[in-house]
Amino acid sequence: MRWALLGASRIASSYVIDAIRAQQGAEIVSVLSSDAGRGRAYAERHGIAGSVTDLDAALGAEGVEAVYISTTNEKHHPQAMAAIAAGKHVLCEKPLATELSQAVEMVTAAREAGVVFATNHHLRNAGAHLAIREAVASGRIGRVLSMRVFHAVSLPEELRGWRVADAAAGGGVIPDITVHDADTVRFHLGEDPATVVARAGESGLGQGVEDSVMSVWSMPSGAMVQAHESFTHPHAGTGLEIHGTEGSIVARGVMTQEAVGEVWIEDAEGRHALKFETHNLYHRALGLFTAAARGEGRPSADGVDGVKSLAVALAVREAARSGRAVDVDYGG
Ligand code: NDP
Repeated sequence: MRWALLGASRIASSYVIDAIRAQQGAEIVSVLSSDAGRGRAYAERHGIAGSVTDLDAALGAEGVEAVYISTTNEKHHPQAMAAIAAGKHVLCEKPLATELSQAVEMVTAAREAGVVFATNHHLRNAGAHLAIREAVASGRIGRVLSMRVFHAVSLPEELRGWRVADAAAGGGVIPDITVHDADTVRFHLGEDPATVVARAGESGLGQGVEDSVMSVWSMPSGAMVQAHESFTHPHAGTGLEIHGTEGSIVARGVMTQEAVGEVWIEDAEGRHALKFETHNLYHRALGLFTAAARGEGRPSADGVDGVKSLAVALAVREAARSGRAVDVDYGG
């Protein structure tokens, strides 16, 4: 499958170019950058045949079937709409857009055009998360009572640009990390948060956008979820806990891009390690996306998953701003 990259981004450099190329017959034809020099240098660095500054040129290149969108967040919507109109399959970075109506429009357009549209929520591809979900779904811990997600990290120096200072580009920890946690909670619990309360603030890095947030979500089953995301916590570590009537799942170091971490179950008999696969998260996501584009199966996270994670994140932000409980609006 021939690909165009929309965005000369770090995430493509670090993970996604490699994952695309791990798929049989995959080829990256060009990269779109708003800056000709940066695009050229990026293409050379990654052995990509061409670089362009014009979206139509990227979409019009011969034989391109799929695009990967990893520009800043406010560009995802217009670029996805153009790619869908050109009949391309789309793998879009999270958050799908800066407004819910835009994300809904993207997913609707893709459905009508008959192209695959996926959201790059990498975490649900991790062996650790797949094992956790299986344990929850099989009833291993009984009825789920609550879940806690620990995702307060220290944002690496090289990422302290638009993410911490540019609201218009979709900056802030809520669109960056809360969306991932929303997807992870939905993935494990199999239900969509109904109502949220939250507090957010700037704790050292944010300039006009929040760099830290804590929130509590009510689930339709009655389970409660607590989530903590931050850019300013160098030593907190990541993880999650899911507590059920018959046991608790505890996972440490699993809210990450690598196939690492430790997972165990605590129950009346003691502590039991939960084994999991250690495949590359992004390779799995690209494998499922490629198969879906060939008409087999579905991507690991589709467009609706991206709409829902964005909906939760926007509700968390609204709850933090207003100080009120906010019902999550999934766009109908
Ligand atoms: P980057 O900041 O690396 O890239 C975003 C845009 O910034 C690029 O499209 C590029 O514009 C511009 N840019 C890149 N480098 C420079 C530079 N040196 N000087 C000026 N501008 C530059 O973003 P990320 O890779 O961190 O994130 C991109 C998207 O991917 C976001 O939507 C983010 O939320 C998502 N993401 C997802 C992850 C996941 O695991 N699912 C992980 C990390 C990010 P141009 O293209 O015009 O050259």
